[in-house]
Amino acid sequence: MTFPHPKTLPLWQKWNTKQLQKKYFEGPREFRRGFQLDAMSDDERKLPHFDQAVKAGRGLTVEKLLTIEAQTTLFMGVDPGGSSRPGTALFILGLNSGSRIPLYIKYGQFGPRQFAEAVVNTYLHWSPYVNWLPVVVYIENNSLQESYLELVRLLPGAPVIPLVGCETGRNKSDPTIGIEGLDTEFIQGNWTIPAGEFYDHDIGCTCDWCRWYSEVLNYPNYPTSDGLMAMWFAWRALRKGDANQGKAMSSGDIKMGLPEKQKNIELGVDNALESWDI
Ligand SMILES: [Zn+2]
Repeated sequence: MTFPHPKTLPLWQKWNTKQLQKKYFEGPREFRRGFQLDAMSDDERKLPHFDQAVKAGRGLTVEKLLTIEAQTTLFMGVDPGGSSRPGTALFILGLNSGSRIPLYIKYGQFGPRQFAEAVVNTYLHWSPYVNWLPVVVYIENNSLQESYLELVRLLPGAPVIPLVGCETGRNKSDPTIGIEGLDTEFIQGNWTIPAGEFYDHDIGCTCDWCRWYSEVLNYPNYPTSDGLMAMWFAWRALRKGDANQGKAMSSGDIKMGLPEKQKNIELGVDNALESWDI
């Protein structure tokens, strides 16, 4: 744990740095609330039990979890950015003996080809290390975004990836399968968080793990939620896969092809990759 630089703190005259440091190390979250004007209380959060799962995972890293959990099934979620909502997030969630294990988070601003490459690279990310691949990739695929799946399929040299278009609507606020349904699992201790990846980072750190942590912790009061959404898609894939005894999706679940209106338009691969707006 590293104490933040005093210049970044709204210091209150009667506290000296040493006293503030002591307060910080007693409880970073309390410190944020008390001294950094982060006044959010637990009852304003929709996922109030996430922090308890994070605290339980302080000694864990992704590498440690991948080494221990040799039979982990991987699920991947992608929240594509759009012209009205910049920022893409890619997430890998592991399932091992019922435990949900975040194993990868990446944020980026991508052009069309870079987006397709990021999906492929994330899909392959752990393959040199653990020798297996995500069983399914859920990509948010609301009507205007259908081309995201096709962008990945059109990428020259890309592997055949089990892509599923994943719609977001009222299901997002469903108490069981919606985002708040995650909190039930945090309460039940179903999540194993590799908090060693970020727990001792400086307050205000902008690394991908810290951004994801802030998004989940503070939902829905954080400026972004792309990583949380990507996690939610991966979790939906996991729940569906879990119900199917961990098998990959059946072909009936997989949406293929271009939207109807684009089917008759012949686009060269490069042309398509360069011209579609992400
Ligand atoms: Zn960080």
